[in-house]
Amino acid sequence: MADAKFGLTLMVDKDKNRVVFAESDEDFMNILLSFLTMPMGTLIRLAGKQSRVGCMDTLYESVENLDFQYLQTEACKSMLLRPRGASEIECMKLPLQLKDTKVTDYICPNFSSSTKTHNFISTASNARCRCGKVMDTETFPIVDGEKGKEGVFVKGNGRFMISDDLRVTPVSTMTSLSLIKSLGIRDMTAFEEINLNTGADKVLDLLKCLLVSKMPMSDVFLSKRETTDAVKVEQRDIAPSQMGRVAGSDNKKMRVKLLISASNDKVLYAEAGEDFIDLLFSFLTLPVGSVVKLLGKCSSIGCVDNLYKSVEDLSANGLINCNDTAKLINPKLAAHFCCENNLLQIEEAAPRNPTNGSGGPILHAINPKSRDGITESGGGFVKGPVIFTVTDDLDVKPFSPTRTISFIKKFNLPLSDIEEQVVNVGEEEALDLLKASFISKMVLNDVFSPRKRKEVGMVIDKDKDSCAKLKMETIGSCVESCGKIKLETD
Ligand SMILES: [Zn+2]
Repeated sequence: MADAKFGLTLMVDKDKNRVVFAESDEDFMNILLSFLTMPMGTLIRLAGKQSRVGCMDTLYESVENLDFQYLQTEACKSMLLRPRGASEIECMKLPLQLKDTKVTDYICPNFSSSTKTHNFISTASNARCRCGKVMDTETFPIVDGEKGKEGVFVKGNGRFMISDDLRVTPVSTMTSLSLIKSLGIRDMTAFEEINLNTGADKVLDLLKCLLVSKMPMSDVFLSKRETTDAVKVEQRDIAPSQMGRVAGSDNKKMRVKLLISASNDKVLYAEAGEDFIDLLFSFLTLPVGSVVKLLGKCSSIGCVDNLYKSVEDLSANGLINCNDTAKLINPKLAAHFCCENNLLQIEEAAPRNPTNGSGGPILHAINPKSRDGITESGGGFVKGPVIFTVTDDLDVKPFSPTRTISFIKKFNLPLSDIEEQVVNVGEEEALDLLKASFISKMVLNDVFSPRKRKEVGMVIDKDKDSCAKLKMETIGSCVESCGKIKLETD
């Protein structure tokens, strides 16, 4: 769509060079709220892998660089790099579409509406039809209703106040005064009103700032500001993620092998199978709102918790209906995006089975993770059995002994200092990993460092014969010939 523009009024504190609040109409509000439905992978892609969101850029790059032979299907790569959203059709009604977010489906080149065969549709490119052909014929969903003419999320023609840290309220004198008070501002002489006409580029900047800054409005709309890098080390807080969640059936556990430097309590890297890698990769498919929900609304990720809680408040005030509220604060994965080993217990949406034109046959949505073109859910992205190495900043690669040895060499540690430990990863650890992936550059250490695990009482599989001979089959004789590795765990 041609560059849509929105009127935005900013109240700026000139002395502090910061936005006190912005005033917008429902169009801008709907776009801001739609960020909650956006899968993380989309955000990383739109930010050109420069999002600075924890280790998500590196994780995204790992998928890009992964050879297809390690994935269940070629389409799995598209699913992770161009994840779909369960509310993407609603979002097409927004008055502004960001570049490179066009919703495209794919059908078999052999499809013909008269023969009613090959009547399948895929949300990911490079899926295979049951006839074996690559489904690469593009098709575009039809959107009912005129763009921007009806409330996509918020109802009616309201006006809204957005604080610098993305707390949203309907406009009123009292709310603006109480906001000013809550910011500790006594003197309003330095306030200045700025009227802007803003478009797609600033919306994209705001999206990028949403997950890293505590002052995104100032960072995006005021010039000569250094973007606040809110993710300071001391703010990391990877406590066991209880936070009011009902513990699910926690039988599902994954085993992850850690290589640890005993002297400085540091996790060097992890070795894990396809189930753990599926868990990490699936972070790219999660809608932003679902991450906040999973982390109990205290994700500490940029300002997104505030935006999420604002939806609850606007909904309580009758400004967003129940159905739309659910799409924002409990967004599902798109159809077929759930993995078999769904430790995070996130739901997926029902598939869309559109018809092809009026009177055409129904197209059945296939599961792009399946090699046989089945329509049932399930499966994983990564093809096993295979061992991967995962670095502290989530660089994921298939295991290779030579690469591992060179990697360990970089740490310049005596081999006698390196220990191997095995940890079980269940729902709690999965949530800790999720949080750390979004706010930290040292994910494995934040979740698994020996000190941390002692604090939270994490279970470690103790090897029966402590200080046994080398059991690091994966590193093999190369290490064996160089020294001794202790296997005892405290
Ligand atoms: Zn076909």
